[in-house]
Amino acid sequence: MNKISEVVSCLDGYDPNALRVDKAREAIRACLAPVEDCERVATRAALGRVLAQDVVPGFDVPAHDNSAMDGYAVRAADLRADGDTRLREIGAALAGRPFRGELGANECVRVTTGAVMPAGADTVVIQEVARVEDGAVVVPPGQKRGQNTRARGEDLKTGVAVLKPGRALTPADLGLIASLGIAEVNVRRRLRVAFFSTGDELASIGAPLAEGEVYDSNRYTLYGMLLRLGVEIRDMGVVRDDPALLEAAFTSAAANADAIVTSGGVSVGEADFTKQMMAKLGEVLFWRIAMRPGRPMAFGRIDAGGSSAALFGLPGNPVAVMVTFYQFVRDALLHLSGRSDDYSLPLLKVPAATPIRKVPGRTEYQRGVLFQDGAEWKVRTTGQQGSGVLRSMSEANCFIVLEHERGRVEAGEPVQVQLFDGLA
Ligand code: AMP
Ligand code: MG
Repeated sequence: MNKISEVVSCLDGYDPNALRVDKAREAIRACLAPVEDCERVATRAALGRVLAQDVVPGFDVPAHDNSAMDGYAVRAADLRADGDTRLREIGAALAGRPFRGELGANECVRVTTGAVMPAGADTVVIQEVARVEDGAVVVPPGQKRGQNTRARGEDLKTGVAVLKPGRALTPADLGLIASLGIAEVNVRRRLRVAFFSTGDELASIGAPLAEGEVYDSNRYTLYGMLLRLGVEIRDMGVVRDDPALLEAAFTSAAANADAIVTSGGVSVGEADFTKQMMAKLGEVLFWRIAMRPGRPMAFGRIDAGGSSAALFGLPGNPVAVMVTFYQFVRDALLHLSGRSDDYSLPLLKVPAATPIRKVPGRTEYQRGVLFQDGAEWKVRTTGQQGSGVLRSMSEANCFIVLEHERGRVEAGEPVQVQLFDGLA
C-alpha cells in the first residue's frame, strides 16, 4: 500500500471533515492493491471465486450443427412453396446417436432436440406441423430454410476466450466451463478478513446483560455480510476500549489478514486514544463523511510483522455499520479480491409513495420497502430511520439512496433504490 495521506491528498475536492461518499470510495480504491496469489480449484469449487485466467474453448460448442426441436430434418430445396410436400422417412437421428447416411431428394430423417443434423439436411420441420399420411411425411408450405436448427459454434468458438480474468464465477459460468470439458480453473486466493467489535458496553451472547450493556449485534451482521462476499473470515470477538488490548488485537489481525473491519470507537469522543495508538501501528485517517447514517469512519493500514492489512473502522451504530459496509467496505473488499468486472450495485428509479424528509449536503441511505402498487413498483420508507434502529434494516428490502444535493422528496417523485437481493 502506498502512503495513504499522499494518495488521498492528490484527489480533487478531498476534505476529510466533510467527505462526499463518492470521494471516500475513490480514496479507498486508490490506496488498495488486489491480492495476487492464485490457486487451482475444481470447477464446482470455483463458484463465486475470482477467475485468474482466460477460459478458451479448445473446440466449437455445439460441436455440430444440430436440431433445436423434435421433428424432421429436411432439405429446404425439396419443399414446395405452393402446397404440401410429401417426403420419405429414411431413418432417425437421436440426441447422441447420429444418422449415418445422407439425405437424397425428397427424403427426410426423424430428429430429436440436440441430434446432429444428418448430412444433406439444412432445415427442421417440427413434428406438430408435419403429418404422416399413407407412410409419407407431409410438410405444409411456409417453412423457412435453416429453421429450428442450431449452428456449430453458435455458443462458443474455438480459440476465442469466453471468460476473462477478474470476474466472479456465476452458476452460468460453471456451466460454460463444464461445456468445454474443463475440470479445474485458476482463481485468486480468497481474501482473509479479520473483524471485531469495540466497546466497554458490549456483552457477548450467552453472558447475562448487566445494566447499561447491550449485546454485540454488529459482529453478527458483519459475519453475515462478509460470508456473503465469499471472503475467509476471522472473528476476533469483542475488544474493550483499552489501548493495550486494542493494540494487541490490531497487531494480531494485521499479521493474519488482508483486511480488518471493526465497529465502534471512531466517533469524535472516542477517537483520540485510538488515533494515537493507530498512528504507531500504521497509517489511519479519521473521516467525517457527508452521509447519513454513518458519518464517522476510519480508513487506513495497520502493519505487523512485515505484513500489513487495510483497516475499515466503522461506526458503532448498528445501521451505520451496515450502510458503511455496503457503501464502502463491500466495494473495497471486492477490489482487493481481484475483481475487475463491474460490481457496482445497480440503482433503479422508482416513484416515492410518500414524501421523504431530506436536507441537501449529505447522501442519505434510508431504509425502504419496494412494493407493487397495481401495475407500478413504488418505494416507501420503513418509518423510523434512527441509526440505532436495526429493525429498519430487517424490514427493508432496499436502500433509498438520496443524492448529496437533493432536498425534500415529494410523493410521486422518482428516487433511486438499491435492492438488497437479486439473482447472483
Ligand atoms: P460508538 O461508535 O462506539 O460510539 O457506538 C455508537 C453506538 O452504537 C452506541 O450506542 C453503542 O452502544 C452502539 N454499539 C457499538 N458497538 C455495538 C455493537 N457491536 N453491537 C451493538 N451496538 C453497538
Ligand atoms: Mg464505543
